[in-house]
Amino acid sequence: MPSVPAAQNASDASAPLRYKRVILKLSGESLSASGDRGIGAVEVAHIAAQIRSALDSGCQIAVVIGGGNILRGAQFSGRNNNVQEATAHYMGMLATTINALALQDALESAGCQTRVMSALEMDTVCERFIRRRALRHLEKGRVVVLAAGIGSPFVTTDTAAAQRALELNADVVLKATRVDGVYSEDPEKNPHAVMYESLSYAEVIEKNLRVMDGTAIALCREHSTPILVFNFNKDGNIVKAVAGESVGTWIGEKPVG
Ligand code: UDP
Repeated sequence: MPSVPAAQNASDASAPLRYKRVILKLSGESLSASGDRGIGAVEVAHIAAQIRSALDSGCQIAVVIGGGNILRGAQFSGRNNNVQEATAHYMGMLATTINALALQDALESAGCQTRVMSALEMDTVCERFIRRRALRHLEKGRVVVLAAGIGSPFVTTDTAAAQRALELNADVVLKATRVDGVYSEDPEKNPHAVMYESLSYAEVIEKNLRVMDGTAIALCREHSTPILVFNFNKDGNIVKAVAGESVGTWIGEKPVG
């Protein structure tokens, strides 16, 4: 398990930071108004303001952005017989890049230096993802927005979040969702669903909980990278998450006994 970083002073509070470097996985839907597709100006500005606060607390942040508000490859090819599934996944990766550019400008308006780094070459719109360069950006206090997932079809940006967490030595994957954490059932369908405070990777798999895709869980489990699932809609939650305050559902190796 990556060691929890030594306490460091946050710039606006004396509380120690629990996580020095995080991967924040935002779904494309986090950029759109509830029930809508596309990109909502208010929603993007809200996310950017929250990321700014977390950055101000002294945390290094790389955002892996999804594209589901625009297009998901598997769904799209399922509805369009004349588009091959691999092609549709590349379209999905381009969708994540559209979101990344919107988020970059919102972050810069919020006062955060930001770099978009893409797994697919798009030199005129953003940098290519190069691990050592990404680390340098993070060390300089820039928000790095990672676009195009891992650059290969047939996976999702959940897998990209786990992959980049390992490559960039992140302390945790923060998975932002519309609900407060991981529930026994879908809380939007069953109001009696129970939220878990913590889970082991094995429990996530055994209970077939839809937290992240299977590859992402397997990668995190193999390398003991914890995952924190929390509600991005609640103000202050990203700051609380990086400070290690009790928010959402924590997934990791649970002590035996
Ligand atoms: N995608 C891909 N390879 C990757 C990351 C994403 O092919 O490494 C495609 C895939 O089709 C996916 C789409 O991009 O459905 C959008 O990403 P995702 O579904 O993860 O977005 P989210 O649900 O987080 O908004």
